[in-house]
Amino acid sequence: MDKQEIETKLKEIALNRSEAFCYNDSIECPEGRCPKCDSDDLCRSLNGVGVGWGTSWIVEHILREELTPVNLEKAFEESVRECFPEETIVGWMRFDTVDLMKNQDPVSWRCAQSEWESEEESEKTIISFDGGSTFYSRYDLESFIEEAAS
Ligand SMILES: [Zn+2]
Repeated sequence: MDKQEIETKLKEIALNRSEAFCYNDSIECPEGRCPKCDSDDLCRSLNGVGVGWGTSWIVEHILREELTPVNLEKAFEESVRECFPEETIVGWMRFDTVDLMKNQDPVSWRCAQSEWESEEESEKTIISFDGGSTFYSRYDLESFIEEAAS
């Protein structure tokens, strides 16, 4: 699934889990039209959470409640650990390679991490819906969507 497809599916889940709601009359309108004022300009109500226009707030709520964002620091560290020997010997001392790198050159470490993040994002392994402050793994999103559909 590409990002757009995932967004469409999440929107469908948000619609399924919420109910059309007339803001003026404060009632749910399962028929898609308000039985009181006959309006079809309806917002959405999510049980126990609130009422609002559109579906993006519902999607955000669902993601926050049901998925765990990717811990980028940890994931980057793991990918580095896969590429280099666990320990590095300097003179007669053994160091944890990652710790040594981070401690000795934190700037280089951060640069490499942000490069890695953009790569992962362009390969669509991780996806953000808020302009890059929170990332979810595409695998998690796809499993969530499949589960929600079944
Ligand atoms: Zn109404």
